[in-house]
Amino acid sequence: MTAPPRTSWWCARAWLGEAGIVDGVEVAVRDGVITEVRVGVAARAGIPRLDGLVLPGFANVHSHAFHRALRGRTERAAGTFWSWREAMYDLASRLTPDSYRDLATAVFAEMACAGFSSVGEFHYLHHGPDGTPYKDPNEMSVALLDAAHAAGVRLTLLDACYLEAGPGHPAHGVQRRFSDATPEQWAERVGALGVAAPRARIGAAIHSVRAVAPEAAEVVAAWATAHAAPLHAHVSEQPRENDECLATYASTPTALLARAGVLSPRFTAVHATHLAEADRWLLGDAGVAACICPTTERNLADGLCELGPLVAAGVSVCIGSDCHATIDPFEELRCLEGHERLRSQARATLGPETLLTAGTSAGHAALGWPAAGRIAPGAPCDLVCVETTSTRLAGADGEDLLSAVLASATADDVAMVVVDGALVASGGAHSSIDVPVALDRAIRAAWS
Ligand SMILES: [Zn+2]
Repeated sequence: MTAPPRTSWWCARAWLGEAGIVDGVEVAVRDGVITEVRVGVAARAGIPRLDGLVLPGFANVHSHAFHRALRGRTERAAGTFWSWREAMYDLASRLTPDSYRDLATAVFAEMACAGFSSVGEFHYLHHGPDGTPYKDPNEMSVALLDAAHAAGVRLTLLDACYLEAGPGHPAHGVQRRFSDATPEQWAERVGALGVAAPRARIGAAIHSVRAVAPEAAEVVAAWATAHAAPLHAHVSEQPRENDECLATYASTPTALLARAGVLSPRFTAVHATHLAEADRWLLGDAGVAACICPTTERNLADGLCELGPLVAAGVSVCIGSDCHATIDPFEELRCLEGHERLRSQARATLGPETLLTAGTSAGHAALGWPAAGRIAPGAPCDLVCVETTSTRLAGADGEDLLSAVLASATADDVAMVVVDGALVASGGAHSSIDVPVALDRAIRAAWS
């Protein structure tokens, strides 16, 4: 019998959560999990070095991988979220399991290079072009699982129930690719998926109150409870969603989800942009998380989340790059803080430690990986080494280094990325995938 794989990483400086930034940190690893964190130790021969500031791996809690192919292609048109959606539907109508596997592999690899060690893929593109299931009805899901494995990132596949175009209106056009017709058929398909991959798990999602009626949402919530699975839903991204919900159900989306038994500590509300005060308390009292996607909400002109009141209500905040107008955890966190400053006209609303927690441990918890996102014994060894000598960060030091990183770093400053103890990216390059070439090829193929 061979000994289990062991390794160690030495960090010139590492952020250890409550202990702050500590010099000379040696992280011992067995089977991808941190077994010991020693501080104040010198580098040793034979132990690989991470020079710079080492942070825990980031969690990209809300992703639609295929939206990456829209980057730059929707910026000239005026309009709204709803006109943008037409371009997204055009793209969705074109993808096959093979083209989606190639595209998602490149996108997940881009995430890995940017410092995301985990991704929550909110997956609704399930079926063939006319809505007929593939021979394996989970073929698209399998393509995404393959992609994450190839890219070396941890995946929570949030399989989304999507049943209708709107209350009482059947799915039409490309939406037929999304729909399982009934919540029971959704549950049967997801139940057949069965994942044994070491870095993957299955979660559930309710696409929105637009696409899933309350009785169907109850079925999805019950499935998530029975499987102890994370449960996510788009919530109040757009005022129109609220208006339609109020007109149909005389209820806000949040209150409707609460009555359907959806809200629990397992639940993550995605966007949570246009909430009533009572909605925030419903979410906070239920112990849910909110995944804010600031660069997407900015890009799609969604509006501003009332972040301060949401946090004050007790909601845990995390981030996602959603439509992937950019893929950069620092930009998401900077936007999260910056948008709240613009809205509240107050500075330093969250603070660097809370922001970093949102990007790391809080995000991983929302994806069903509660041990991850921290540099501590028992956590998966996910390390992101930020080069602190770049033009952007030169001169920052001491207690202000973390603030400087959050104010000014970009994904280009990520020097090395370790996932489960293994090096996945170095110097901006993925260890096994030529990311720019793979993206270019996959995006051209998706539109051809
Ligand atoms: Zn989304």
